[in-house]
Amino acid sequence: MEKVAPAELERRVSVQEIPGKGKGLVANSHIRKGDVILKETPVLLGFVDGVQGIRRQLNPLLLKTAVRGLPKRQQNRIDDLAVTTGGEYYEDVLRTNSFTIEIDNTKFSALFPDIARINHDCTPNTFTRYSQSTLQMEVVAHRAIQQGEEITITYIPQSLSTGDRKALISQRGFNCTCRLCSSDIDGQTSDRNRADIRSILDEIRDHRDSLTPSLIRKLSQRLLQILNDESLQIQGGEYYSLFADLYLSVGAAEDARDMAWKALESRVFYNGADSERAKKARDMMKRVGAF
Ligand SMILES: [Zn+2]
Repeated sequence: MEKVAPAELERRVSVQEIPGKGKGLVANSHIRKGDVILKETPVLLGFVDGVQGIRRQLNPLLLKTAVRGLPKRQQNRIDDLAVTTGGEYYEDVLRTNSFTIEIDNTKFSALFPDIARINHDCTPNTFTRYSQSTLQMEVVAHRAIQQGEEITITYIPQSLSTGDRKALISQRGFNCTCRLCSSDIDGQTSDRNRADIRSILDEIRDHRDSLTPSLIRKLSQRLLQILNDESLQIQGGEYYSLFADLYLSVGAAEDARDMAWKALESRVFYNGADSERAKKARDMMKRVGAF
């Protein structure tokens, strides 16, 4: 891999040419799980639902004016990003590279030019954590990353089956060549595991009124093991909360507290301490009597 540009980024990563993928970010040194690799504030925000009173056709002009109002260095970073869909240039840049974020209950597409450099993988080695109070997006290591390894995030929900992932990825104008998508055996194993998660959730729904602490324990152990095997720990918070609720409904207070605590831990790590999800997990802690 040839180094193509001095990093605008922190020293942890540099922009490099990745075979078959264009440019991407590569770790300059060993990165530990949980380390914040990048932290960035958006340089451009677009209303997801348009602006009341402004005609849709004016959008490209507004975007262009906004970009031209930025310092030259920022403009160059935006002009250097990938486009995939065609149509108005800066709308394409936003469609291809932006994240949807929420500020005061309004949705925006937000452009983070450094983070936009990170390529997709269906089992990524990092995740993003957005803070509504600072407007910053962090890229955090989901596992240890070796020096020279490419930094990856997922552009689509992570729990999908191979077929659903492929459909969504092709809409974004590329093919995924990650381990899950390029190995039939890995893909089939993963699809089976993900189907098992759905059947565990069905089982819970169908037996909601006859659950016992020991059945909840059995189901939770199976489900959490699959999350681990599939590197889907990012969804842990959702399921820990579900099991906390289930334990609470059968009067198993100690197990409920244990799950509620794990839910909070997971939400703070994956979604951020000031996130709506962490707030809900704190409410759950109160409900189970842990606060
Ligand atoms: Zn893939």
